[in-house]
Amino acid sequence: IVTGMIAGILVGSALQWLMPNGSDFLIPLGLFDFSFRGFFVDGVFEVIGQIFISSLQMLVVPLVFVSLICGTCSLKDTTKLGKIGGKAVGLYLITTAIAISFAISLALLISPGEGVNMTSDSTFTSREAPSLATVLIQMFPSNPFTAFAQGNMLQVIVFALLFGIAMALSGKAGERVASIFEDMNEVIMRLVTILMNIAPYGVFCLLAGLFTDLSIETFGNLIVYFLVVLFALLVHGLVTYPILLKTFTGLNPIIFLKKMRDTAIFAFSTSSSNATLPITLETTTKKMGVKNSIASFTVPLGATINMDGTAIMQGVATVFIAQVFNQDLTLVDYLMVILTATLASIGTAGVPGVGLIMLAMVLEQVGLPVEGIALIIGVDRLLDMTRTAVNVTGDSMVTIVVGKSEDQFDQETFENPDAGAKIE
Ligand code: ASP
Repeated sequence: IVTGMIAGILVGSALQWLMPNGSDFLIPLGLFDFSFRGFFVDGVFEVIGQIFISSLQMLVVPLVFVSLICGTCSLKDTTKLGKIGGKAVGLYLITTAIAISFAISLALLISPGEGVNMTSDSTFTSREAPSLATVLIQMFPSNPFTAFAQGNMLQVIVFALLFGIAMALSGKAGERVASIFEDMNEVIMRLVTILMNIAPYGVFCLLAGLFTDLSIETFGNLIVYFLVVLFALLVHGLVTYPILLKTFTGLNPIIFLKKMRDTAIFAFSTSSSNATLPITLETTTKKMGVKNSIASFTVPLGATINMDGTAIMQGVATVFIAQVFNQDLTLVDYLMVILTATLASIGTAGVPGVGLIMLAMVLEQVGLPVEGIALIIGVDRLLDMTRTAVNVTGDSMVTIVVGKSEDQFDQETFENPDAGAKIE
């Protein structure tokens, strides 16, 4: 997977050099011209890359549904669910608050937008930030099949939890259904491992395609903004998480980061915590040793409500846009930013680029022009990839903390470098 990533970045960059600004490289072959763009970028890379993402996404809803039912059912005492949920949500909110506060402070210190003269002529329409009441109401599906079809993760989670609790309380009938779900869980997890076999090629194609068209020239005025977001993301992923893990669990953070590597690369190449979910679940359970009873709940929950990387981008972007448009924000405004960013992330699925849609809500909330988003959109792709890697690292870190505190964690698996490494 690492080789796939490096090769993809190198090949993509080489093609970018060969075909700058979306041009094509044609080799005349007599009867027809061989188009590099047509064959590689829009052909092989696009087809394999998209098939790879779709097959990951295909697994998300069935996997979350089945594994969460098994997880809930295997918790002998389902009243514990409230405590586990409380811990997970609490930790998710705290890490997001730390992330965005750090990002805002760093941006205020470095002032990426000071002296930048940019105008935007495009418009960006925003949705209104949902109220807490709406978020709560919308967590409950009126039709579970609609929730499945739309991939509404929070609704799938709520339905699976209720279904699992009912199964645990249904005696013999519940046990019979549980054994079917356990078998299904096994089969779906096997499908995840099968998919892991094509992962290096998928990662290669996605990154080669992306890097061919990643325009570096648009950085210009945005370079400081870009670097501040990137730096904050790296600090959060490589320093804050390890410190929090060590503090809460005493576990070795280096092992954690090493085991996180492949999942982070998946997230980086797909830009979607949702599509990465099957891999995150596999990593946290098989490689890191968290029991399915915890991970099947906290991982999908995290993929939806926990987006620390996204919050970091939103914090820096708000400061940047305020500075470019010469508007002063008060402390209350910043608190509002933190609150809206956190709330907006709760109901939003982790898919590519969704951070910008949430940013529109944040800007609206503090009276900044939403068109500001058009200024940063040019450099967002690479940041989106990086922040998604941070998002899934956060989900996994919290999953371990909750698993360990609930005694649903196997330290031997965590410390075994080969655990879960075998792909059959
Ligand atoms: N792509 C991110 C994710 O899936 C969300 C975002 O920041 O746009 O986690």
